[in-house]
Amino acid sequence: MAWMVSMSQAQFENFTASSLYCEKCKATMPVRERLLLVLPNKEIFDYLCTGCTSSVGQREVTAGDKLMAQAMTARSRRRTRAHQLAP
Ligand SMILES: [Zn+2]
Repeated sequence: MAWMVSMSQAQFENFTASSLYCEKCKATMPVRERLLLVLPNKEIFDYLCTGCTSSVGQREVTAGDKLMAQAMTARSRRRTRAHQLAP
């Protein structure tokens, strides 16, 4: 019955970068995540500086990571349509 929410939420937020160092701005800037490339087994995200919109980093998300992130997102947001399994 009980929700086990607290366990990994902090880890997940830590894993997803929200600010990175930008060489153009010479500061740690908030970044925006953009889906750059979709491959059969992973997706590559681009991090854009919100100050100058240049790319300051990239992140690869493998299928396993994605499933885990989806599960966590679904659980933390408590969506009712949480259990949509990919084909
Ligand atoms: Zn910048």
